[in-house]
Amino acid sequence: MGNRIEIKNRKDITPGTRIICHPWSTPLLMPDNKRAVCSQCGCTIQHRPHVPDHLVKICVECGVPMMLADAAGDDLHIVLTPESADELHEHIKKQRN
Ligand SMILES: [Zn+2]
Repeated sequence: MGNRIEIKNRKDITPGTRIICHPWSTPLLMPDNKRAVCSQCGCTIQHRPHVPDHLVKICVECGVPMMLADAAGDDLHIVLTPESADELHEHIKKQRN
């Protein structure tokens, strides 16, 4: 199918899609981040409040090997929500200033 990046609205993301989350930290990466547990290893992670409930949340340690394996098989599919894409854009703009 080929590696690809796509922007989809929250309601259009297939249930069971994995989302890779940053480890829990103090302070949080963003002050309104929410707490969750990695579905693979059980460690505590954080995610943006607009992340859909029907996504499977996993930590970076568990998720990156999965992404690398998918990419090696030419089957990596990354999905961003419009909200995530906007936040990423704002973050990049702040880094440049
Ligand atoms: Zn994990």
